[in-house]
Amino acid sequence: VQIVRTIPEVRRALAAPRTSGRRIALVPTMGALHEGHLALVDGAKGGGAYVVMSVFVNPLQFAPGEDFERYPRDMEADAAMAGERGVDLIFAPETGEMYAGEPEVTVRAGRLAGDWEGRVRPGHFDGVLTVVAKLFGIVQPDVAWFGQKDLQQALLVRAMTRDLNMPVGLEIIPTVRDVDGLALSSRNRYLSSAERMRALALSGALNAVKASYDGGERDVEELEYHGHAKLLATPGIKIDYMAVVELQTFRRPALLAEAGAAIGAIRVGGTRLIDNVLLGPSTL
Ligand code: AMP
Repeated sequence: VQIVRTIPEVRRALAAPRTSGRRIALVPTMGALHEGHLALVDGAKGGGAYVVMSVFVNPLQFAPGEDFERYPRDMEADAAMAGERGVDLIFAPETGEMYAGEPEVTVRAGRLAGDWEGRVRPGHFDGVLTVVAKLFGIVQPDVAWFGQKDLQQALLVRAMTRDLNMPVGLEIIPTVRDVDGLALSSRNRYLSSAERMRALALSGALNAVKASYDGGERDVEELEYHGHAKLLATPGIKIDYMAVVELQTFRRPALLAEAGAAIGAIRVGGTRLIDNVLLGPSTL
């Protein structure tokens, strides 16, 4: 796999596949790769696309006091995993290559970002959308691949491509989990084995909500009750939120009549984890 650090190198590397008419697929990541990222690569490879993976820990999407400095970085392992899985090009810029200074123009997320991750992490989605818009401008992909694991983010990126008329197709893949149900995340490597056990309460809670939904319950407070019960029964975790929302708006209705999702965020020790499950007939 070819690794490049600068924007001109990306453009040079893409000239040949583009002129030969190959589709260009982009997989944006912050590195510390796991099977979730690699499932995005597998999807992107389908159809013979030329696959570009970006590896960039984007400072704009971290609030002060979050884990930007200690976020795991392991370029050597990432390159080996990505290369083995068939990534054609890794774009791993230094911060200065992406932000020569304080940007004059950024993307601002709208109402879809008003609650949940957007409320707990002020400015987070503006930072995400800005870097994704930049990556789209740099790579000019035909299609970009995102994970359902970060559901609010994926829906916001989709809204951005729609509202700003960006000529990029979006694909969203289901969350990849460990055998015990824990959603794979780069942040899982912060967890001690005792914390990892406690972290299972999150997927357990979301599954409890889904079981109730599948049993016919549509009252949102009732649905959420099953998730909260599971989380509150687990010592040593802090709940940021556990809620049932409509997919369209990411808002909490009284009754869930449309396709929805159970979403949750908890803290285990110093580690913040998020997860979600879809409720109902829900094609993303
Ligand atoms: P990150 O490196 O955490 O910014 O994630 C990069 C991309 O991988 C995002 O589109 C995530 O939603 C996706 N992703 C992260 N974890 C998973 C997972 N467990 N399953 C599927 N996709 C994931």
